[in-house]
Amino acid sequence: MALVVQKYGGTSVGTTERIRAVASKIICYRKKGHDLVIVVSAMSGETNRLIGLANEISRQPVAREYDVLVSTGEQVTIALLSMALQECGQAARSYTGGQVRILTDDVHSKARIRNIDSSAIKRDLAAGRVTVIAGFQGVDENGNVTTLGRGGSDTTAVALAAALEADECQIFTDVDGVYTTDPRVVPEARRLSRITFEEMLEMASLGSRILQSRAVEFAGKYNVPLRVLSSFEEGEGTLISYEEAGMEQPKISGIAFNRDEAKLTIAGVPDHPGVAYRILGPIANDNLEVDMIVQNVGQDDMTDFTFTVHRNNYDKARQVLRRVATDLGAREVTGDPKIVKVSIVGVGMRSHAGIASGMFESLANEGINIQMISTSEIKISVVIDEKYLELAVRALHEKFELEQE
Ligand code: ADP
Ligand code: ASP
Ligand code: MG
Repeated sequence: MALVVQKYGGTSVGTTERIRAVASKIICYRKKGHDLVIVVSAMSGETNRLIGLANEISRQPVAREYDVLVSTGEQVTIALLSMALQECGQAARSYTGGQVRILTDDVHSKARIRNIDSSAIKRDLAAGRVTVIAGFQGVDENGNVTTLGRGGSDTTAVALAAALEADECQIFTDVDGVYTTDPRVVPEARRLSRITFEEMLEMASLGSRILQSRAVEFAGKYNVPLRVLSSFEEGEGTLISYEEAGMEQPKISGIAFNRDEAKLTIAGVPDHPGVAYRILGPIANDNLEVDMIVQNVGQDDMTDFTFTVHRNNYDKARQVLRRVATDLGAREVTGDPKIVKVSIVGVGMRSHAGIASGMFESLANEGINIQMISTSEIKISVVIDEKYLELAVRALHEKFELEQE
């Protein structure tokens, strides 16, 4: 008998009709003899609605109260799904993150899971009950409700699978697996039957919202077999696993993109030791995360410095940078919130030359100007104007023949 943790995302539990369908699916799995721990998201659109309510009351809601509010969406779905299971004669019990005691740090809105007390879940499983657990939430040491960041239910599921040493963690969603890129942008995108943890982690961190990057990180660290599947159709989905020795790896596995970035430049700063620190130190002190960083080659003892931040932090970062510019006597601060980052990802890149030039050639052929570039062993990212996003992703998909096996 296998122990499986299954997570159902927002669309999969978007209506009471769909919640009933999920209950029937769970009962089928139970009939195959599996022990099941279920994690659910809020009904689709609900978390956004709650965030909207908070913003109607306050421009900067107190983090503690914000988490109390946005975590409520998941409390609705755990109760409804448990009721649906009970209606079908399946014993079930719902738990909020606090009730299970999913202990996190106290960083509201992006808390990290520290520990999970699995004793209540184990008792339920031994008694033949299905446990239904609220994703996305936990409690800190002082009992304050915390949330794990957007898409955080994936991480709840993987963390539970690790804590319970489950045989597999299955992420049920509205697509039937991980594709070469978002199938909403490229209809020719192809489902991958397998992808490595390393590649999936890059894809997720570079913006593919199919899985929260922390979930992939967790699964890799604790070696939790992770599978992405459709809630609506049968199929094998995509298995995320370690690279197998001797397996031929494609050069490029996928394309990720991120629409949430913004670019800032401080021009005419002295090209001296310590300048990067004097620019980025104040940004970090304001808890603004920086992604890509480029410093130009200095000329006449002066240089320019460009970096990207989350678009939500654009105005705040610009204010900080203006202060820094005055202190440093910099020439000017400019910025552009309408940029996107497009990345190609693949472990096969390690052993193939010419991938970067192929990428740049393809973008040049479309007349797309590259504003920033960053590379690592298994990815190449470029920053471009947001109006070229779809064009760039489609051109690269074709260039690297990703629609073909
Ligand atoms: P859920 O609510 O189930 O967590 P999400 O909306 O978070 O679902 O994630 C599923 C969505 O991720 C898909 O509908 C798809 O548009 C998007 N997506 C982005 N990149 C990919 C990819 N590489 N493969 C599949 N889906 C992707
Ligand atoms: N409901 C949360 C969100 O919309 C968590 C999740 O769905 O994973 O981000
Ligand atoms: Mg999600």
